[in-house]
Amino acid sequence: MKLTKDQESHALALHKEALVVDFHCDGVLATLPDSAYIIGDAKKRTLHERSDNGHVDIPRLLEGGVDCQVFSHFVEPIYNPIAPHRMLQVLGYSLNEIEKSDKVSLVKNYDDIVANDGKRLSFMIGFEGGEALVNDLRLLKVYHTVGLRRLTLTWNNRNMIADGVTWQRSKGGLTEFGADVVKECNRLGILVDVSHITDQGLWDTLEASEEPVIASHSNCRALCSHKRNLTDDMIKALAEKGGMIGVNYVPFFLKDIDFAKLRGGDEEEKRKVESVTVETVVDHVDHMVEVIGNTDHIGLGSDFDGVPSIAKGLDDASKMPNLTKAFVARGYSDQEIKGILGGNFLRLIKKIC
Ligand SMILES: [Zn+2]
Repeated sequence: MKLTKDQESHALALHKEALVVDFHCDGVLATLPDSAYIIGDAKKRTLHERSDNGHVDIPRLLEGGVDCQVFSHFVEPIYNPIAPHRMLQVLGYSLNEIEKSDKVSLVKNYDDIVANDGKRLSFMIGFEGGEALVNDLRLLKVYHTVGLRRLTLTWNNRNMIADGVTWQRSKGGLTEFGADVVKECNRLGILVDVSHITDQGLWDTLEASEEPVIASHSNCRALCSHKRNLTDDMIKALAEKGGMIGVNYVPFFLKDIDFAKLRGGDEEEKRKVESVTVETVVDHVDHMVEVIGNTDHIGLGSDFDGVPSIAKGLDDASKMPNLTKAFVARGYSDQEIKGILGGNFLRLIKKIC
């Protein structure tokens, strides 16, 4: 990335001025004391204390100029038989963490986020997978009251709503209950999220939803063939319905990497992971712009703390200004950059929540 001194200070000022919104991180799961989901060598840390471990905590988000963070709340698969119970435990953890710090507050709508501008981090609740609904819409009402504003319909597995992306054998999309969940999200003001769903599930959701649909943390399949990514037709369809795509910083969703070989210690694959940088993230944004024709439906969905490895230059949440520098270097206008950093997602939060 080549930037003049002037461009660099312009980028930093622009980053500071912008309302930065990240639509997906796993910081709750990564810091939950009894989490069944262990990534890397994560030592014990909390959400409200600064750590050099993992990617996200409240101090590092504020350091990185993030204004609003959607934190995923996830039921680890071993807890699926008691999913609502487990989700209440995870939510209880988050609400306690929020209470411990005056640098963060729970937000439920656009005005809450704007009121926090420059004062504290806006904590928005997202669910990654609808397992905690079991098959009862009344639970969705309860979760909405607690603060749920983004529902990722599935994680990788099948649930009562739809099939997840690793559940390919059944070739399934949205269930009848799933269509009801989408409609109830529309009614309550919860953003419907298709990251992690099967291809058929994505098309079914676009059909069932009366409101725009988002893919909170997915990239372009044209550049990286992982099934978690979106085809050009999907990108176009999400944008045409007024929805959003959050660009993801995880190497596996940015470049084609052979997992089996990587796990076996293959040096070539390790080098590929190492070669993924903030520039690769912007390559995916460039492609989305090419497909959509403008930047209005693109935002951020870091996936911080979801996977141990992350694009170089975005090593943790405090490094977020590097992304703005990369956008400036790539020639995006101030207006476009502010939109991608958060303005575009805020427009949708204002409309839906
Ligand atoms: Zn995810």
